[in-house]
Amino acid sequence: MNLAESETFLRQQIHIDGHWFDADTRETIDVTNPATGEVIGTVPNAGAAETRRAIEAAHRTFQSFSRTTAEERAAKLRILHGLLVEHQEALARLLTLEQGKPLREARGEIAMSAKYILWFSEEARRQYGDIIESPWPNRQLQVIHAPVGVVAAITPWNFPSSMLARKIGPALAAGCTLVIKPATQTPYSALAWAILCERAGFPAGAVNILTGSATAIGGELTGNGLVRKVTFTGSTGVGKQLLAQCAASVKRVSMELGGNAPFIVFDDANLDRAVEGAIASKFRNSGQTCVCTNRIYVQSGIHDAFLDKLSAAVAELKIGQGLDEEVDFGPLIDAKAVASTEAFVQDAVAKGGRLVAGGKGLGGNFFAPTIIGNATSDMLFAKDEIFGPVAPIFTFETEDESLALANDTEYGLACYVYTSSLGRAHRAAQSLEYGIVGINDGLITTEVAPFGGFKQSGVGREGSKYGMQDYLETKYVSFGAL
Ligand code: ADP
Repeated sequence: MNLAESETFLRQQIHIDGHWFDADTRETIDVTNPATGEVIGTVPNAGAAETRRAIEAAHRTFQSFSRTTAEERAAKLRILHGLLVEHQEALARLLTLEQGKPLREARGEIAMSAKYILWFSEEARRQYGDIIESPWPNRQLQVIHAPVGVVAAITPWNFPSSMLARKIGPALAAGCTLVIKPATQTPYSALAWAILCERAGFPAGAVNILTGSATAIGGELTGNGLVRKVTFTGSTGVGKQLLAQCAASVKRVSMELGGNAPFIVFDDANLDRAVEGAIASKFRNSGQTCVCTNRIYVQSGIHDAFLDKLSAAVAELKIGQGLDEEVDFGPLIDAKAVASTEAFVQDAVAKGGRLVAGGKGLGGNFFAPTIIGNATSDMLFAKDEIFGPVAPIFTFETEDESLALANDTEYGLACYVYTSSLGRAHRAAQSLEYGIVGINDGLITTEVAPFGGFKQSGVGREGSKYGMQDYLETKYVSFGAL
């Protein structure tokens, strides 16, 4: 295994105003490989003081960066896109090393990061204002857009590169500067962005990255008046906490929170397609994505056939260390994730669930891909997000029943429907209270479409033309006495 090139992107310091630093206290945090438990390296355990300096640097740089032309920012983003493509392999290996996902998925994630950056390099030049017909003579009313200001970005460990691409891309395209706090489990893929952005020609202070105490850094990011916007991807619980903290200074917020995705398979569905979609949407990243299928509802007529095919497909998944090219199912992120997955299985089995596949830990952070039959609405996963490789199978009789069950949740991020009836597909797409609906489609993420949730799954959209709006203020200018 050649990690030499990856090591050029492995920085064990925080990045403020174009320079690399240790924590003020010199304290560090270990970063481990979830597949082996080995320590890969350390990162600084920074806190509020370092965060304040990073915010001040971002604020200083904003004064000039926000006045650059969209063309100039677009050109730098295109260079950044080129660097991601050029170093895809090294960045993917670094990602797998700290996150655990199979290399194929890690390569896909870096490619996706590159696509987001390219998309926003294009969007940077496609921002338009309005001239509004004036209700008074001798006046002209304009609507123009202004970058929101210093953006704080807090990101999770499940997509340590692409969750940042979705925030760095539109922020820099709009003329904002950033202070970033990645998840402690996966800091290196984030710190690599500082190297890449610097090489792309973004000025010192445009992209600052801190590692360390989530509460100390998060407290400063949400409390500091120079920060104008907080963009967060993570759990609904932490998202609510951050929303409350942001309320004091009325910061703009974008929240990509948890999900509890239903996956509905109707009697008239193409079963092979449905199984393929279920595997992709359930077991990608070992079930650790916010759009992962959480509840599979199968119409009674095809229940047994679907379950047989799904079990056969699960048996084919090759489990192992992500750096092994053959592997398609890696470890969970840490021991806590294993314990939490186990708890969902035990709860279901205690309530009458039937273990069809897996159901147990495989040593270390590995947990077998699991199918549970006879799932019922009193089981924990009917309500809570699993974030692990457990596929519960519920049955239903009618279309109305399935749609009501699917909507019976506080969440509203992604949902999936498999049917060959056009009318049914339309009715489902209309009535499902979700930000993303996959009809006969289990892999729905793309930079060109809006990603985000209804209800407690979040606020705002990432990617697409809508993804820029969250980073721009709308300013109305009235020219009088013309
Ligand atoms: P997950 O369940 O995916 O780990 P979390 O919501 O716990 O999601 O974490 C997502 C990100 O939020 C991580 O970067 C984490 O360090 C950060 N985080 C966790 N708690 C807080 C907090 N109180 N304030 C700010 N950031 C936090």
